[in-house]
Amino acid sequence: MSFEDYRGVWVFIEEKEGKIAPVSLELLGAGRKLADKRKVELGGVLIGDGVKNLASTVFEYGADTVYIYDQPIFKLYRTESFMKALLHCSEKHKPEIILYGATSTGKDLASAVATDLPTGLTADTTELDVEEDTGLLLASRPAFGGNIMATILCKKYRPQMATVRPKVMKALSPEAGKTGTVVEEYIDLREENMRTKVLEIVRETTKKVRIDEADIVVAGGKGLGSAEGFKLIHQLADTLGGVVGASRDVVEAGWIEHHHQVGQTGVTVTPKIYFAIGISGAIQHIVGMKNAGLIIAINKDPDAAIFQSCHYGIVGDAFEIIPLMVQEFKKE
Ligand code: FAD
Repeated sequence: MSFEDYRGVWVFIEEKEGKIAPVSLELLGAGRKLADKRKVELGGVLIGDGVKNLASTVFEYGADTVYIYDQPIFKLYRTESFMKALLHCSEKHKPEIILYGATSTGKDLASAVATDLPTGLTADTTELDVEEDTGLLLASRPAFGGNIMATILCKKYRPQMATVRPKVMKALSPEAGKTGTVVEEYIDLREENMRTKVLEIVRETTKKVRIDEADIVVAGGKGLGSAEGFKLIHQLADTLGGVVGASRDVVEAGWIEHHHQVGQTGVTVTPKIYFAIGISGAIQHIVGMKNAGLIIAINKDPDAAIFQSCHYGIVGDAFEIIPLMVQEFKKE
């Protein structure tokens, strides 16, 4: 198979209720670097109903070209319709690389597109690079229980595709007024031919804590000893106006719900300040918090691995240190 016709890096722009998902902006930042290295264009693919006005944001965050499918049939995400649009666009314009956020929509769409094209897909990527001369995408992700980073290549097919974890890549600072080429596309899809219909949207009534959006995360581990001991983590988080995070062992012990879990099988967080208290620093935990602005670890074992991944480390007993911190911060 000749890859000569395949050029450009694309980002699937995820849109919900008129807003672009933050991960898409992060991917435009990552995609820009790949496109510059390959000296090719960065494209954004916008699919929806009434989404044309979002093109300016896609340009401001780094795209050179925005491909738009703006039709009522795309009002709500459905695998079939979005997949057909993306296949149509990809077959017509032949990108070398397509990136998707590793969100429920991105994962669903990317796997459907990969199957139909067919091409390879690297899921849940945390690092991206490209070979300047060959255009081979180097998509890396934790493997073997997080013990190694595996770089996965797609040598035989184009486009090369990857889903990328939210909060891992950095969005560029938007360049106000930056524009580019708009390519308006159309695909003849009819509602009566669709195999799925959205009958009702049921909104969540209880608001889950968005740990991935918090500026301060106070995370506790098994070192807190018990659900009772873990209450100290809540106390410190409340005092600082932060959100509680946890290691997987804490979640498995039932001290807190899964959506507080940070790490490979939990959430990736990038707060300004991350406290890791009574957490040993297993690689599976580190991959979920290593990009925090400031990491402060408290552990009574001076040899704990967490001290290799923090900016400040306090060797000591959490049961002595947290009450002192709460007391001091309350004075502020
Ligand atoms: P421990 O490893 O038991 O560490 C407790 C720490 O507390 C120790 O370092 C100890 O010195 C310290 N300590 C004890 N008492 C005190 C005290 N009084 N004061 C201060 N410090 C004290 N883990 C995650 O966190 N997130 C994930 O997403 C995740 N995904 C995984 C996926 C796979 C496939 C696998 C195999 C594992 C995964 N894990 C994950 C589990 C991970 O490998 C570790 O087992 C886990 O992170 C350990 O949790 P911990 O640090 O709370 O507990």
